[in-house]
Amino acid sequence: MGKHYDIIIIGSGPAGMSAAIYGSRAGLSVLIVEAGAPGGKLTKTHDIQNYPGIKTMRGYELAMQMHEHSLNFGAEYIYGNVVEVKDGENKQVILEDGTVLESKVVLIATGTLERTLNIPGEEVNMGRGVSFCAVCDGAFFRDKVVTVIGGGNSALEEALYLSTIAKKVNIVIRRDVFRAEPLVQKHVLETNNIRVVKKHIPLEILDNELKVTGIKLQNVDTNETFVLETDAVFPYIGADPISQMVKDLGITDQDGYIIVDENKETCVKGIYAIGDVTQKTLRQVVTATNDGAIAAQHAFHVIRGI
Ligand code: NAP
Repeated sequence: MGKHYDIIIIGSGPAGMSAAIYGSRAGLSVLIVEAGAPGGKLTKTHDIQNYPGIKTMRGYELAMQMHEHSLNFGAEYIYGNVVEVKDGENKQVILEDGTVLESKVVLIATGTLERTLNIPGEEVNMGRGVSFCAVCDGAFFRDKVVTVIGGGNSALEEALYLSTIAKKVNIVIRRDVFRAEPLVQKHVLETNNIRVVKKHIPLEILDNELKVTGIKLQNVDTNETFVLETDAVFPYIGADPISQMVKDLGITDQDGYIIVDENKETCVKGIYAIGDVTQKTLRQVVTATNDGAIAAQHAFHVIRGI
């Protein structure tokens, strides 16, 4: 059995890091458990332009600043893949390697995982033309043709980023309208080297056994297919919540998002959820940090009994 904490935070994206700042600054013992790199989706985002006080900053820079800040008041940080959270007088957080951690309160801040297209040629070409992170892999496609799938904020923002590197960017959407907010749409439509292919769905990613060469698309009205030549495919078609570690607690909706009250507490006392993994309408850095502050502050009052 490991050390006992006041709060264990699972995930160190903006929500988890904000909670760590509030919890540790209030004098609670806090442990952050993270299965990847600190920063969550921030690290995969090129520019952040809508976090108050920061007009524009690279996502990974803001992530690093938040990470340093989150450890500034004594919070501990470990690498670990959490497979289960158990309720009880003390909560138990069980890691993949069998380690059992205990705390009075658990905050789930695990975010979401990008959806895959699930079409032939996708998995085999990961790392040789198929990528889910434009910020990480965009530079490999300088002066080449790349194709982004999806019409949400992620797809359009990353397409804009790729347009500064690649010769040409295709955006493929399945309807004839975008889902992204109007300002981002405007920027996309004003960018000369971005072409939008509407009303098409991807059927197959083609390659020459060394790298991606094209993507086969199908018109949703006529069923006609054609091959769009491209050196890379970046699917940005949404994401699903990472909540399997609490599946037996009955705190998720039918899509796996965690249901919380105004204090970000689930119907299981002492188990909170914050950020993108929760059932909410606006998934942003600013709403994630807001969730973390509310949850940690509420947990502080519950733990201290004041
Ligand atoms: P999203 O908003 O759910 O958009 C997903 C896009 O992928 C939609 O255009 C959807 O088409 C398309 N799509 C879904 N499945 C598909 C499939 N099988 N084949 C082809 N296209 C498919 O996802 P997101 O862009 O990842 O954003 C997730 C959340 O984060 C949103 O709430 C978003 O606002 C937020 N976010 C905000 C910012 C920001 O404010 N700066 C940046 C990134 C993300 P349909 O429209 O036809 O369904």
